[in-house]
Amino acid sequence: MIERKKTRQVSIDNVQIGGNAPISVQSMTNTDTRNAEKTLEQIYACASHGCDIIRVAVPDEKAVEALPTILDRVPIPVIGDIHFNHELAIQAIEKGVHCIRINPGNIGSNDKVKKIIDAAKQAHIPIRIGVNAGSLEKDIKKKFGITADALVESAMRYVRFFETQEFYDIKLSLKASSVPLTIKAYRKISERCNFPLHLGITEAGTVFSGSIRSSIGIGTLLAEGIGDTIRVSLAAEPVEEVKVGVEILRALDLRKGPHFIVCPTCGRTEIDIIPIAQQVEAEVRKMKIRENISIAIMGCVVNGPGEAEEADIGIAGGKGQAVLFRKGKILRKISEENIISELIKEISTLL
Ligand code: SF4
Repeated sequence: MIERKKTRQVSIDNVQIGGNAPISVQSMTNTDTRNAEKTLEQIYACASHGCDIIRVAVPDEKAVEALPTILDRVPIPVIGDIHFNHELAIQAIEKGVHCIRINPGNIGSNDKVKKIIDAAKQAHIPIRIGVNAGSLEKDIKKKFGITADALVESAMRYVRFFETQEFYDIKLSLKASSVPLTIKAYRKISERCNFPLHLGITEAGTVFSGSIRSSIGIGTLLAEGIGDTIRVSLAAEPVEEVKVGVEILRALDLRKGPHFIVCPTCGRTEIDIIPIAQQVEAEVRKMKIRENISIAIMGCVVNGPGEAEEADIGIAGGKGQAVLFRKGKILRKISEENIISELIKEISTLL
């Protein structure tokens, strides 16, 4: 069991972040926010795959105008992502976004940031302060270079300013595309303050490389008890980010759901495990199971029966057939072509 650092809790609409709240998964739409229908479609897809909070870019006033339509029909809270323009941030808050994300460094003067803080205070919504290795302040970069200390110093500078404004509903992110740098920065900030942390590796890559980099970066920190909400940044459909995020939490037992134990296949494999496992996993995903159940799909009689017996439901392959197990007991033999349907049928009886 991972012992999590207890941070100050903030609420993004009905989703709590920090304290004892479960770690939430976030993603960001990549549709044109001005196209409310397309954006909503993507938000629904993300929510149905386990996304808890969605972020949308608000680059101009037309995007602000689309917000009420989006906010009226979203199934999960929305964070408005604002750069450079404090007026847009204030307008997005007035339209009812549940949180905003800014990098105070690119908003401009403290006066402008203060105006955003005042608007957020009035609307009772939190602000995510997002510091990025790519946009550090000049003096900090000069003093520290692009280092973990620089990211921490930059974030703490804003934290101090927000505190002088008596605004504490903040969460922090310190992102870099380097995994070791990100890990180091989050470890340091976690020692320096108690605000909830949003974890992510920025510009992580495509589904393949980005998932690995994010899993290592986010996973290392989560395993140390650091982090309250996560976003996997991928050059892919947002729903892919959500799937990877959920799986990272599942791997660390930080979220309930199905767990697959699948034989990696070898020269002894007696049934066509790979497509069977892929299809079963896809079907089970659709079932949106939020309970811990283990499903073993094993290819032979060497490790197969052992793993299948340990799992809630499992099969161990033989020649052209498999033995179906449920909680350690053999249920029956099934022929290879019926494995998927029989497994799914059996899994649904557990729910
Ligand atoms: S379970 Fe059997 S088939 Fe699968 S990898 Fe292990 S020995 Fe090979």
